[in-house]
Amino acid sequence: MYVVQIASECAPVIKAGGLGDVVFGLSRELENQGHCVELILPMYDCMRYDHIWGLHDAYRDLFVPWYGGEIHCSVFCGWVHGRLCFFIQPHSDDRFFDRGYYYGGYDDPMRFAFFSKAALEFLLKSNKRPDIIHCHDWQTGLIPVMLYEMYQYYGMERQRVCYTIHNFRHQGVAGVEILHATGLNRESYYFHYDRLQDNFNPFAVNFMKGGVVYSNFINTVSPHHAWEARFTDVGYGLGHTLEIHQDRFSGILNGIDYNSWNPEADSLIPHAYSADDFSGKAKDKQALRDALLLQNSSKPIVAFIGRLDDQKGVHLVHHAIYYALGREAQFVLLGSGTSVDINNWFLHEKRFLNDNPDAHLEIGFNEELAHLIYAGADMMVVPSKFEPCGLTQLISLKYGTIPIVRGVGGLLSTVFDRDYDLNHAPEKRNGYVFYQTDYNALESAMERAIGLYYGYPKEFEKLMQQGMEYDYSWQHSVKQYENAYDFIRYK
Ligand code: ADP
Repeated sequence: MYVVQIASECAPVIKAGGLGDVVFGLSRELENQGHCVELILPMYDCMRYDHIWGLHDAYRDLFVPWYGGEIHCSVFCGWVHGRLCFFIQPHSDDRFFDRGYYYGGYDDPMRFAFFSKAALEFLLKSNKRPDIIHCHDWQTGLIPVMLYEMYQYYGMERQRVCYTIHNFRHQGVAGVEILHATGLNRESYYFHYDRLQDNFNPFAVNFMKGGVVYSNFINTVSPHHAWEARFTDVGYGLGHTLEIHQDRFSGILNGIDYNSWNPEADSLIPHAYSADDFSGKAKDKQALRDALLLQNSSKPIVAFIGRLDDQKGVHLVHHAIYYALGREAQFVLLGSGTSVDINNWFLHEKRFLNDNPDAHLEIGFNEELAHLIYAGADMMVVPSKFEPCGLTQLISLKYGTIPIVRGVGGLLSTVFDRDYDLNHAPEKRNGYVFYQTDYNALESAMERAIGLYYGYPKEFEKLMQQGMEYDYSWQHSVKQYENAYDFIRYK
């Protein structure tokens, strides 16, 4: 099959979170299975150009209709660790992607509506006719809408869309000007509950809802989260829309790319190790301590890696730091705040703990340090409020770092409590799970983990091994995507 992935991220060249990892990992595995995969991405000024090979212009003068006029774009082409990527660069005073950030502009809906339009225009003009257009998250939610309402009449009637939702929280809600800009001109037609009208604000269009209504297949990134999105508040208002389109909606668990995330062959960690021999992990722990100026001791290292966002349960992350320090453990945090308030809060904590030899808080995004932490830490806390899939716990399992997670979404589908999980035999359990959002719940899970580390080191090591034995690679999940593609493909 010929598949084009259209997304706002692709690791490692553009990565703000798990979306980037998923887009890259899925594309790679689809290629391994013999499919032809290409990616279309925005050409941000701040992306990691050092990860692109052979960047050259592929389509010099792409004119994208916009507000009754057109915007001149160039399309560049290059390889990102073997994946063929097309980067769209608009030349306009809006400077959509020349702002030093990926997300966070007041006009983000406009930026990504333009990107969606430009991606379709590029496919049309360059005569690319993929079997499947695979779109991701709200940024590309208008693609199936424009494909169905416009581009199918220009010669793209055979293309089918698979739409993957990685996070229901951000849906791309904007005013009517989006319709004028993109050429979806019939306001009264689109402002309808069955089409693009936001379920809460009758005067706004909702990109993600458009993606759900118009795509041939829709999925979120774990089976449990698919259920949650329909029946609980984590669908952020789209529950009823998903209910209406339930016959096309499912949950497919993300995988991780074991080429990037594998302690046996990770070039970003100083010592390789495997489930049979943890001596490398002990050395990585030492390297982590040296890198972050933590004192040498027999204490375990508890870590957190992730966006510092309300979604990630920041109040519990904050509590975990002090609980760990009080319970004879060291704590390492790597995260970047998604709001100024949260960022300042953790910067304050960082200053407060500056002289503490058992804690290090690194505020910012640092891929290299993330690898060292996964390898060097003993436990990873993931106390999310909601988590569509979660990659940190999957990566932690692979690195023998015991996950301590809240039982929601993908965390519940992948981590099985060592003491209480009755659905898995003791030798199949791999971490610790708590459910409530209060401090006691978190503390009890951390206490059990740290208690095992000190009291029963052999058992702790066994639990590490059991986690490493789990295979959460893309090989399993890709089959489900292939089935979905096959199901919707124009025959
Ligand atoms: P998200 O909700 O952000 O997508 P996931 O758990 O799905 O969360 O994916 C997070 C990914 O981003 C993981 O690969 C994690 O290692 C990485 N990550 C998150 N924050 C940082 C950071 N500050 N520095 C480096 N990597 C990070």
